[in-house]
Amino acid sequence: MFVAAFLLPLFFVVLAGIDTFSKRQKTTRNLLESNLWLSGRSALEQLEQRFGDIEKNWLNTTYFNQLLKEDRNKPVNSNPYFFLIDTTYKITFPAIADDNESDLLIPEQIRNSDFRKWMDRAKSAELSNSRFSGAISNYEKCLSFARTTQQEALAVEGLARSNLGNKNYKKAIQFYRLLNTKYNQTKNLAGHPYGLTAPLQLYTIDKIVKENIYERDSLYQIYRMMLDRHWLISPSCYLFFKSEYESVLDIDNRSKESEFEKVLKFNRFIGNLVIPLIKEREKYTAFNQTDEINRTYLETEEAQYLISFKKMDFSESDITCFAGICWNLDTVIIRIIPGIIENLEEETNLEFQLVDNKNINIFTKDPVNISKESLTLSFNNIPFPWTLVAIQPGYNKLESDAKTQLIVYGLLILIIIALMLFAVFIFVRDIGRETDSMLLQTEFVHNVSHELKTPLSLIRLYGETLLYKDNLPEKDRKEGLQIITKESERLSHMINNILDFSKIEMGKKEFDLKPGNLAFVVENTLDSYRYHLLKKGFEIKIDIDNNIPVVLFDRSAVEGILINLFSNAIKFSDETKKIAISLKKTPETIVLEVADKGIGIPEKELKNIFNRFYRVKVNSDFEARGSGLGLTLVKHAVDAHGWQITVKSKPGEGSVFSIFVPVNINKEL
Ligand code: ADP
Repeated sequence: MFVAAFLLPLFFVVLAGIDTFSKRQKTTRNLLESNLWLSGRSALEQLEQRFGDIEKNWLNTTYFNQLLKEDRNKPVNSNPYFFLIDTTYKITFPAIADDNESDLLIPEQIRNSDFRKWMDRAKSAELSNSRFSGAISNYEKCLSFARTTQQEALAVEGLARSNLGNKNYKKAIQFYRLLNTKYNQTKNLAGHPYGLTAPLQLYTIDKIVKENIYERDSLYQIYRMMLDRHWLISPSCYLFFKSEYESVLDIDNRSKESEFEKVLKFNRFIGNLVIPLIKEREKYTAFNQTDEINRTYLETEEAQYLISFKKMDFSESDITCFAGICWNLDTVIIRIIPGIIENLEEETNLEFQLVDNKNINIFTKDPVNISKESLTLSFNNIPFPWTLVAIQPGYNKLESDAKTQLIVYGLLILIIIALMLFAVFIFVRDIGRETDSMLLQTEFVHNVSHELKTPLSLIRLYGETLLYKDNLPEKDRKEGLQIITKESERLSHMINNILDFSKIEMGKKEFDLKPGNLAFVVENTLDSYRYHLLKKGFEIKIDIDNNIPVVLFDRSAVEGILINLFSNAIKFSDETKKIAISLKKTPETIVLEVADKGIGIPEKELKNIFNRFYRVKVNSDFEARGSGLGLTLVKHAVDAHGWQITVKSKPGEGSVFSIFVPVNINKEL
């Protein structure tokens, strides 16, 4: 009952604990789920917005203006690829010259000019071969009438060519050099820049005059510059000079795609794929909101692209164009997305993966297992061909946290149960002790009453006999008086013991230590007891050493010790009535021994006999009266003197009580 009263509430506490524990786990799980949903969604928006910011940064009028103004021919070899398309859908950046542009070289208004007249004369003189000097003077005239750089260059070209025909090499070299420097970017009637034609001529002349005016290295540099789009030329011009230079330089460079080829390819890609898309888009989109970016996804055999474009007004040059970026998605994955995702993971505490339409993680190329703990999100504004998967890493952590919590909680409960059981044990034990001591006390009251009643009845009986019977023989009268004396001694001994005990209990017992001779006290006490012992039929043996040293002791306490030991020896002796008293001296101690041949004490009881009220239970046929206080008082008195008491006893053989009195200490005292 008692244990149940303790354990039942504990059981409920544990149950309630486990219940709140699982509820809390559920709430956390719900929280995490809603976090996944909210954070996942906002992460997708963030990703689109951050990519949009990068896009906006590039698709910026100032930047494109600069491209248009200064760098139309600048090599574009890094992602993103920029492009500009004018309102006639012509690609103005990156520029590639038109194959038909040579027609435009001589504008209409100069057709009937002086320049034209002399140019025609010079050409016919040059064509008749023999009249080179005539041609030279005509071209000189032509030069003097030239109004534009283009006309100047055409005249200088004629001069160079006629001088070469006339074998006037020095002059020819001079004019070709002029073409190569001053008119380097200017094109001839075939649309070929002089920067490409003149060096070839100079190289040929050098073969004739052998003056090392133009070395192979210089020619090779020109060739490389052409591959890198130094001149704005048409694809056919590029092919012509490529093969021309390669045959002169005797090289074969087919392996690597040149810058020109890359741009040409990009240009064709824009022309064939992007422009039709823009045209299509224009049908149903009003592009008047120039700030809005349009996007479209494009896939070729080679790669996946995102095309971002918008209409752009170049106020400075009055041109309206479509400006755009062609993102190669492979590059976007490597260069742009990881940075954004890393930021998002830090901000949201979620993990993200980008997954293609075959459920493959595009970063690791591993198949993705989309579980309950993840959220799949499709892009809203940017037509990326992927989905964003947001994963809540908290779930796994939650599981492991729950496990550790359960272990800790379980351990805690076990400790509480152990502590409570321990408390129950202590409680039960103390109650047991309390019950034992109460039993002893009751027994004590019973014993003492008995002890007091017996002598009192005897005293009264003999007292009355002596009082009322006048003619009592002398012998009986004496015996009556002896009994009264003996019983009153017993009474006073008993009462002394009880008084002593109560003094001890109240802490009022004091010992009056005085130097004295122990042998004297032992002999005296024995003398007053001798008659009693002999009367009971005891054989007394006394052995007291001479010269017992003087020690400090309380005389009445020592008498009390001796009387208690003698009275026990008498009480607990059965058939063999022998008592031996000895007081011996060893170098360090005086040993006082009281031995009897009585009933003895079982070994397991020896530790208890000095406890208050304790009495050894013996067979019913042997009954000795007592209070259980005698040895308690003996022990207390011995301890108060700083002495020691031991007992050796065997049932049926007798007991020996020995008191050890240290000599040295007392000497010092
Ligand atoms: P009381 O003698 O009043 O019973 P004590 O405190 O003197 O109480 O002794 C306690 C118990 O020790 C006794 O009840 C007895 O069982 C045992 N005892 C003491 N002295 C002896 C002895 N000389 N021989 C046998 N038993 C003894």
